[in-house]
Amino acid sequence: MYISKSFIPILKNNPSEAQIKSHQLMLRVGMIKQSSAGIYSWLPLGFKIMKKIEQIVREEQNRIGAQEILMPTIQSSEIWKESGRYEDYGEEMLRIKDRQDREMLYGPTNEELVTDIFRSSVKSYKSLPQLLYHIQWKFRDEIRPRFGIMRCREFYMKDAYSFDVNDEEAFFSYNKFFLSYLKTFKRLDLKAIPMAADTGPIGGNLSHEFIILAETGESKIYTDKRIFDVISDGTKLEKKSLKDLRKKYEQFYSVTDEKFDKKEFEGKVTESNRLITKGIEVGHIFYFGDKYSKPMGGSVDLPEGKKDFVKMGSYGIGVSRLVGAIIEAKYDSKNEVMKWPISVAPYDISIIPMINKNETSALDKSNKINLELEKNNIEALIDDTDENLSSKIKKMNLIGAPYQIIIGKQTEGNLLEFKEIGEETQKKSLEEIIKIIKERKANN
Ligand code: ATP
Ligand code: MG
Repeated sequence: MYISKSFIPILKNNPSEAQIKSHQLMLRVGMIKQSSAGIYSWLPLGFKIMKKIEQIVREEQNRIGAQEILMPTIQSSEIWKESGRYEDYGEEMLRIKDRQDREMLYGPTNEELVTDIFRSSVKSYKSLPQLLYHIQWKFRDEIRPRFGIMRCREFYMKDAYSFDVNDEEAFFSYNKFFLSYLKTFKRLDLKAIPMAADTGPIGGNLSHEFIILAETGESKIYTDKRIFDVISDGTKLEKKSLKDLRKKYEQFYSVTDEKFDKKEFEGKVTESNRLITKGIEVGHIFYFGDKYSKPMGGSVDLPEGKKDFVKMGSYGIGVSRLVGAIIEAKYDSKNEVMKWPISVAPYDISIIPMINKNETSALDKSNKINLELEKNNIEALIDDTDENLSSKIKKMNLIGAPYQIIIGKQTEGNLLEFKEIGEETQKKSLEEIIKIIKERKANN
C-alpha cells in the first residue's frame, strides 16, 4: 500500500484535547474520528488493528469450544423486565421507543438475550455444557465518556456465556475462560493480571478482572508483585489442571478497589512485595449461577427425572478498548515511537525510500521489494511521497509497523538498511528480512 493512496490522516502535532497517550496517538495518526460525545468512527488504520485483535479473541474462544453467534444490538425491554434489570440498570441504558411505541434498548450486555435463546431450545442436561459468544457493539450511556475509545459510549465487546448443569461443571467452564483470557492477552503481547473483583450489576459471587498495569488506568489495584512471575503455559483443558492454574494466581493477593481490605493486604503481603498502582480493565469474567435462569425460566431436565435451573457465567473482553490498552503499554510518547505487536500490527513493515524529484529508482526498488514481501504474506506500507527522509521516518514511527526498510544513499547491492523499531539498523538481504518476519509471525 502506498501512503499517498491510503486514508491515514496524520496530524502534525499532538491534538490538545487528548489527555492520555492512546487517545493522542489514535487521533494523531487518524485511527478514529469522534462523531459525537463518546461515539467514534473507526478509520482504516484503527479498524484494521481492531479487526486483528478481534480475530485473536475469536480464535482463543473457539479453542476452548465456545461457539460464535451474533445477537442484535437492539433488544426488547420485555426480557429485561423478566430478569428484573430493566429498572436496576439505570441511566447507562439507552432506551428507545419504536414506531409502535414499544420499549426497546441498545444492549449494554446480553445476559437476558442469550438466556432467552438458550431457554427456547435447550431442554436436557445432555446438551450441556454450552458455551456461546458473540462480538458485537454495545452501548452504555457513560456519565463521563473520556480518554477516547477507552471509556466511550459505543464500544466493541466480546461477550461469552456458559450454561452448565451444576456448580462444579460451571466452575470448569469458568476456568476454561480464565485460561483462554491468559492466552488471548499473551498473543496480544500484554501482561494482563487476573484479579479478584466485585461483580457489580451483573451479580453473582465469583469474578476476576483482567488488568494491565498503566498509570493512566482507571482501576486501582493492590497486588503481590510475585503474581507477575506466574507462568501459565502448557495448561490443558482438564478439570484438575485448570483448577491448579487458577490456584497458582490466587495464592497471591491481588484485588481491585472494591475488594480491597487493608488489614488482609498487609497481613498477606510483605512490604517489599506490595504494589499499589493503577491499571486498565481489558476483560472481566463472572460466575452467577441461576441469577438469570431462575427468573427467566431457563431450566433443564436432570437424569433422575428432576429439573433444575441452568448455572451460568458471563465473560467479557473489551475488543475496542484493547486497541487503546496496547498503545498505553507500547507507545513511547516521549520519542513518538509506537511499535505494534506483530500479531495485530496494521502493516508488518514500512518501506521508506528516499525519493528525489524526477528520480524513481528508489521507488522502483521499493516496488520490487514489495512484490517479494507480498509473495510471503508480508504486508508493507510504502512511503511514496517526496518528503524528506527524516519526516518519513517520523511518520512511520507513529504508524508503528514493527519493522522498517530504508532505501537511501547507503543502500548498496543486495543489502538493505533494515531495522526493528527500537533496535539498531542492520544490513540484511531481502531473503534474511523475510525469514525474520515470517518466523516472528509464525510464533503468534
Ligand atoms: P469498567 O469497570 O471499565 O466500567 P465494566 O466493569 O462496566 O467496565 P464489563 O461489563 O465487565 O465492564 O465489560 C467487559 C469489558 O468491556 C470491560 O472489561 C472493558 O474492557 C470493556 N468496557 C466496558 N465499558 C466500556 C466502555 N465504556 N468503553 C470501552 N470499553 C468498555
Ligand atoms: Mg468489569
